[in-house]
Amino acid sequence: MCKLCGPKKVIVTETGFGAVFHPCPNCKTGTDLTPVIKRLERMVQDAKARLDARV
Ligand SMILES: [Zn+2]
Repeated sequence: MCKLCGPKKVIVTETGFGAVFHPCPNCKTGTDLTPVIKRLERMVQDAKARLDARV
């Protein structure tokens, strides 16, 4: 397991706008990360949509 990203192979950076996902530079596995990142991004967008609906 990678020290930097754990089992995820993705680095998550929290920003004022939400979370940003990067492929882990330690793992450098590249292409197979895309589905994982897409899924995480969709989770963030769903969460944002829920927040927007509440305001
Ligand atoms: Zn890693």
